[in-house]
Amino acid sequence: TQKTAFSGDARRGLRQIRNLVAIASGKGGVGKSTTTINLALALQQEGARVGILDADIYGPSIPIMLGNPDQQPGTEDNKHMQPLEAHGLVANSIGYLVPADDAAIWRGPMASKALQQLLNETLWPELDYLLIDMPPGTGDIQLTLAQQVPVSGTVVVTTPQNIALADAQKAIAMFNKVHVPVLGVIENMSYHQCSQCGYKEHLFAQGGGERISKQHQVSLLGQIPLDIHIREYTDLGKSLISEQGDSPISRAYGHAARAL
Ligand code: ADP
Repeated sequence: TQKTAFSGDARRGLRQIRNLVAIASGKGGVGKSTTTINLALALQQEGARVGILDADIYGPSIPIMLGNPDQQPGTEDNKHMQPLEAHGLVANSIGYLVPADDAAIWRGPMASKALQQLLNETLWPELDYLLIDMPPGTGDIQLTLAQQVPVSGTVVVTTPQNIALADAQKAIAMFNKVHVPVLGVIENMSYHQCSQCGYKEHLFAQGGGERISKQHQVSLLGQIPLDIHIREYTDLGKSLISEQGDSPISRAYGHAARAL
């Protein structure tokens, strides 16, 4: 087999993961998975070894966004899984294990168990960061995370729109209540800049990320534009950060990665 940055020292357990960071959102569709992938790639660009655990049990997007939805993690003992590799990241997702056209209709305890299994039964290599792409909201999986997973903290993704901010505030309040540090907020879809004339438009309103960051005394880690390349690269499972080189977008993700 090919030798990669990750081969060699995979042992069971989470001891060799330095920082477990949950990427959360109050509302669905605000770009949490997109942010997870690009933040992972930006951290890697900074020299970190990074993995992704897709815990969005009800809508796992990571396999498509990494461009390997048809692969499956290998196993030697039918219990432990070898994470998949893409763009130099390692990843595991319920999406690799359940057929794409099959809906996961699970009660809370089962969904929480799935998170624990993906976490504990994947042979994670030595990592500086494992980013956990959480399902949206403030339900059972978030509580499991808070009570049973040694997370360093959580990043809350929101758009600047009021209905998204209201749910982001609920998520921050919940993490505060269960003593999971909120490392910061990433405002996604902050603005759109016309590729023809350069005009900048705040489609989902302006200043919301800054407002809730100040209100809850957490950092605003980044403001990411609504941009066709972000959508295209993630739809195709390609790495925008390494393929596009230096751009305002990769700088915005780089800024967020360094602020983590
Ligand atoms: P969530 O994980 O919060 O449900 P996704 O990351 O799946 O959201 O994003 C929802 C959709 O929006 C996806 O189709 C994605 O490609 C698109 N998207 C997310 N963020 C951006 C962005 N900054 N610019 C353009 N498209 C985006």
